Amino acid sequence: MSADRGVVVVGASLAGLRGAEALRRGGYAGPLTLVGDEPYQPYDRPPLSKHVLAGELRPDATALPHLVDLDATWRLGQPAVGLDRAARMLRLADGSALPYEKLLIATGARARSWPVTEKTGPLPSGIHTLRSRDDAAALRAALAAGPKRVLIVGAGLIGCEAASCCRDLGLAVTLADPNPTPLARILGSRIGGVIVSCLDTAGVDFRPGTHVDAFEADAAGRVCRARLKQGAAIETDCVIVALGATRDTGWLAEAGLMADEGGLTCDVACRALDADGQPAPGIYAAGDVARTPNPLHVGRLAAFEHWGNAVAQAGHAARNMLAAEDDQQEYRHLPAFWSSQFGINIKGVGLADGADTVAVMQGSRASRRFLAVYGREGRTIAAISFDQARWLPAYAERIEAGVAFPPILGATDQSIKDFGVPDFPQPRSR
Ligand SMILES: Cc1cc2nc3c(=O)[nH]c(=O)nc-3n(C[C@H](O)[C@H](O)[C@H](O)COP(=O)(O)OP(=O)(O)OC[C@H]3O[C@@H](n4cnc5c(N)ncnc54)[C@H](O)[C@@H]3O)c2cc1C
Repeated sequence: MSADRGVVVVGASLAGLRGAEALRRGGYAGPLTLVGDEPYQPYDRPPLSKHVLAGELRPDATALPHLVDLDATWRLGQPAVGLDRAARMLRLADGSALPYEKLLIATGARARSWPVTEKTGPLPSGIHTLRSRDDAAALRAALAAGPKRVLIVGAGLIGCEAASCCRDLGLAVTLADPNPTPLARILGSRIGGVIVSCLDTAGVDFRPGTHVDAFEADAAGRVCRARLKQGAAIETDCVIVALGATRDTGWLAEAGLMADEGGLTCDVACRALDADGQPAPGIYAAGDVARTPNPLHVGRLAAFEHWGNAVAQAGHAARNMLAAEDDQQEYRHLPAFWSSQFGINIKGVGLADGADTVAVMQGSRASRRFLAVYGREGRTIAAISFDQARWLPAYAERIEAGVAFPPILGATDQSIKDFGVPDFPQPRSR
């Protein structure tokens, strides 16, 4: 590697930090620069929708620990705005350019915002998204002010976690989603139905099959109402738009890489691909931004929004950045996530969407304490636990090995009385 150009990491968050640390651990002693558009040192996002919203943790108390002395140059508050691959040069918003020998792209994702067009006009105030530390600080302040009714649009993981926090704070909450249950895209409605019962117990006004169409403002320009496609309205003075995330690849628009809002396409070795599908020399990607072939779904590319993937993929990309061309190793990672909501610790391994069968292997949906396994075409592809993670590592091994569905029979506490179709919604039309 050229001594003066060195390594540049774009995106100073979880994947960027852990990737930089892995480079140093791997013996890289040359120049190292981390570029981040946020003004903060890397911080942890999972607490934002849990402890920070609940007021148990200050937004600025979420800094990620540094596990290695990085001896790096930090360019924080400085977005990368372009990439000249021929000159191996990164362009920053202040007009400066950073030469690199190797580049790690870890720009993650941003919250999908509510669409604003000429027809809709500007959004009223009081409408929030939740991705960054600043978002969490603003939302926490809005919740602490005691809104009359919080409307959460989107019952995915972040929408449900926010609903849970709002109820813990004693706030009235409506949760609206076009699907029949929360978490329908991740777990299917058969398992998502368990969350419906949690919402019910917690006193959340859940509105399935609901499409929010537009927001209305009061005389002061604050949100006061959401209009539904079906014609009705929901009165609200605080809205959380929780519609998922788009990958932060806009700055790569002219770079000639395979990038769009679904991610930056990489090969199995985490090398970014150019428009012809060839690895771009010296450019790697990791974390939420990276869309890679997934060994669990042959022929399918997947970008994850999982903490564990960001750490593992950053380490793997760093390893390959330091390795010779003929020693590029394949990234094989079993997707895994966790969530805590309504007092339940949810953990998942594998990729459930696309499953044709789900079986509850331990516990029961009625008790909200269970482990369920997903199968597709006779193969085990995912497992999910609600407060029942004891067996999860054993299932993870079976999923990685691609064993027949259902795996592990005759284990203690097991009774497979509850199995059926998982009920995933139709894929979104883009
Ligand atoms: C509220 C919330 C709760 C979550 N909870 C969980 C959970 O319970 N369990 C779980 O497994 N996962 C959870 N996640 C997901 C997890 O936090 C992410 O998978 C992880 O943060 C991904 O890390 P990353 O570094 O790839 O991307 P990010 O954390 O998105 O970081 C990317 C960084 O790059 C910066 N950037 C973007 N564009 C540019 C640019 N052009 N120039 C410079 N910098 C740029 C961004 O501002 C950001 O700082 C949660 C995420 C959120 C938002």
